[in-house]
Parts: sequence; structure tokens; C-alpha cells
Amino acid sequence: MPYESKDDLKVIHIGFDDTDSISGKCTTNLAFKVVSKLTERGVTFIDYPLLVRLNPNIPWKTRGNGAVCIRIRTDSSEQIIEFLLKIIKSESDLVNGANPGLAIFEGESIPFSLRQFSGRAMNDVVKMEEAEKLAVQLSVQIFKYGQGLGIIGALASIGSLLEGDHTYEAIAYRKNEYLGSPRMLDKSKVSKVDINTYPFTFNCYDKIHDRILIAPHGPDPVFCGIRGEDPQIVISTLHEVMPVEKLEGYMVFRTNQGTGMHLQNELSQNEIRTHRAGYVRCTVTKKPVIIRGGHVMFEVSDFSNNQYPVAVYEPTGLGDVASKLLEGDSIDIGVGVSMNTPHRTNILNVEYLSILKIAKEIVNINPLCNKCKKRMKSEGKNKGFQCKICGDKKYSKISVTNIRDIQLGMYLPCSKAHRHLTKPLHRFGMEKNYPHVPNIIKPLHSDWFKRF
Ligand code: ATP
Repeated sequence: MPYESKDDLKVIHIGFDDTDSISGKCTTNLAFKVVSKLTERGVTFIDYPLLVRLNPNIPWKTRGNGAVCIRIRTDSSEQIIEFLLKIIKSESDLVNGANPGLAIFEGESIPFSLRQFSGRAMNDVVKMEEAEKLAVQLSVQIFKYGQGLGIIGALASIGSLLEGDHTYEAIAYRKNEYLGSPRMLDKSKVSKVDINTYPFTFNCYDKIHDRILIAPHGPDPVFCGIRGEDPQIVISTLHEVMPVEKLEGYMVFRTNQGTGMHLQNELSQNEIRTHRAGYVRCTVTKKPVIIRGGHVMFEVSDFSNNQYPVAVYEPTGLGDVASKLLEGDSIDIGVGVSMNTPHRTNILNVEYLSILKIAKEIVNINPLCNKCKKRMKSEGKNKGFQCKICGDKKYSKISVTNIRDIQLGMYLPCSKAHRHLTKPLHRFGMEKNYPHVPNIIKPLHSDWFKRF
């Protein structure tokens, strides 16, 4: 669906990424600053800023592999681009290794090839040259700083329309004077809003581990973020947990967080490459073993009989159910593919486990004595079995079906081990699958951006 353009107003799509480093800064905070300036200029925002989480298995990401896209309608695109070039340079953590990229696309609809590029960046590794080639083909202006790797995420965020399932996050930012100091949040308030807003917010509070999930721990400017199903719920919930600390402001992003978007493609054998994400429908072929550290390892085969080693890491909390799997069980596993370095083979790291069919477990046990109803004792190898009460004999074991201690269903990591993209269990069935046509169906929430 095209974004409407009016008279001399142009629609421009601004994507940027890789502006931060482990030591500081934050791409969403830069988006907050950009929006703040654009608001002063009186541009029209035709969608909420998008916070697009890309392939979480990319090793050179800083944290959550998030890129930002801002879509506006304006009559002063040249001045805006000039301003963007300056702010990306001044507000990125270039000295600590950020490699920012900025992409600007002018046009009312997003070309299919850009949408495809974005789809691949969600679950595969894309090369910088591909991004540069596509930008030339589509006349996307790109600007690189440092090594400029950020143009991959910048382009991918523009190509991501989040037309189907999506969620929202209201992110609150700290004032400079508080950066690095502990974030003071009232745990009881957070756990209360978590209960009261269920199922319309997610990952606010982990009751099992009694942990707040809305605030990061590093020196970055994010104070906290409330994730949920619509702008109204994330804004009102944010107001309920507001701290005493004076904040810079907040902004609502539309996002693919909590949608499981990276795991939607089924991976065939030739797609199982290091760093890929997707799911594999398979059968357990080698019984799980629990190794040091509580990790669980087993083997599966897909329907073309390709065998893969699988790892369920302890922090996911999925080890308990995974260790009960047996040969013959049919499962779907959402996975990130990584290289098992010593063996130079790929290994599937489980992000979710869905048990589709439970195999029968047949075990051979000593026979029962027909008269005494007691289990007979073995007389030694190939010597049969004897009842110790009446002396009756039998010569073979009997086969019985064991009751398996495992249930069909979807199993997800515990919330503290969720990735940004992990779809919480309660969101299954809550997916938004209507086309999202910003500003045409519904204007943005009046309080989506606030500077205090
Ligand atoms: P934060 O979450 O704190 O904003 P981050 O985890 O998003 O940080 P970045 O610093 O943005 O990490 O680094 C991610 C880098 O990986 C960017 O340069 C981005 O362009 C690049 N990238 C993202 N997705 C892919 C992909 N699928 N293939 C190759 N490179 C990618």
C-alpha cells in the first residue's frame, strides 16, 4: 500500500543503524533525538518510528540487532538530510567501534526488492556489497561512517513494513546526568502492572525469578521500555511505573519484537548455514544427553533424512522438557544455527520447541507370575525367569508401553532468556494480521512522543 504524498510534499524514509557500542550510546535514543528535531520542523510522521530487530544470530551485533526507520512527509528533505548527516556523526559512538550507516529513500511505496532484502536480513547474513548494489539500483542514498556496516540494517529497516504481526514499545530515556547510575524502579509497581495489563503487555516482570524485565543494566540512555499490543497500553503502563528520576522523555516505536518473525521460515538442508534463523520440522534420532553445565544435546533428522546435532542451552530453561524426548518423537524447533568449532559442523541452538507427536516407549520387563501376581526374578543370562514364591518359570521378557512424562505443545524459554524477537506464549493467537496502513486508517496516538 503506498504512503500518500501531497502536492509538493515528499515522502522520505530514513533508516539508520550501528550507531552505538557496548560502551555507550543507543540507536533508539538517537531516533528520539532525530524525532525531537523533526517535530520542531513540523514534519508529518506517517508511521510510528520502527524499531526493527534483525537476525539475532549476527555475531557483530552490539546487543539486540535493532535498526530504526522513520517515515515522514516533508517539503524540506534537503535540509533534513543535512541535519541527519550531522547528527549521525556527532551522536554515534564512533570512537568505540560503531560503524553507522544512514539510508534515505524517497518514494511513496517501498520496492519489492527492498522488502525482500529486509526479509533476508531477518534470518540470514547479508553482505555489505549487496546492500550497496541494491541502494544504487533503487536510488537509495546511503552514507557510511567508520566501516559503514550499519547501511545493512539501515536499508533493512526501510524495507520492513511490519504489515502483519507487530507490537509497540514505549521507551523512556534518561537525562545525561543520570547515565551510569542504577535505575530505581519500584518492583512492586512493575509486578502489579504486569498482572493488570496481561495479556496486552509482555515481558515486564519475571515472576519465577522475581526480576524486572523492563530496564537494561548498562550505561546506555534507555531508562526502561514497556512492550505491548498497542500505543495506548504501552504509554499508560509507562506512566504507571514512572520513576522519581527526571527523564528526558519517551517515544513509542512500532516493532517486530515479540513476533518470532526471524523463525518463520522452514530451513531445508541447504539453508542450514552458520548464523541462520528459522525452524526445522524433524524427528528425534538420538536420545538427549545432559552435559556439563546442564545443557542438553540430541540429534534429529528432517524428512529428507539429513541428520543434525541440536543443543538446548541451560539458561533457556528448556532442558527439562528436552531431556525427556525420545527417538521417534516428532518436533518443530525454532533455531539459530551456529558453528560447533571443534567439529567444524553446524549445530542447531533451540529457541523454541514444539512437540507434535510423542512416540510410544516400549520397554521389556520381567514377566509377572500368573498365580502370585508378583514380578519374576531373572535366573541369569538366557536362563529365563522364576517366581520366588511358587517357583513357576517363564522364558521371555514381556513388552509394555511406558507412560511418557511429556506433553504435546509449544515450549518457550523462560522470560529472562527471551530474545527481543521471542514470541511469548500468550501472544500465539493474538497476532495482528491485517495490513497496517499508517495514518490512512488511524492517526498516530497524540502522546506517542514526549519530551519532558
Ligand atoms: P543495539 O541493539 O544496541 O542498537 P545492535 O545489537 O543493533 O545494537 P549494531 O551496533 O547495530 O548492534 O550492529 C549490528 C550490525 O550488524 C549493523 O552494522 C547492521 O547493519 C549489521 N547487520 C544487521 N543485520 C544483519 C544481517 N542480517 N546480515 C549482516 N549484517 C547485519
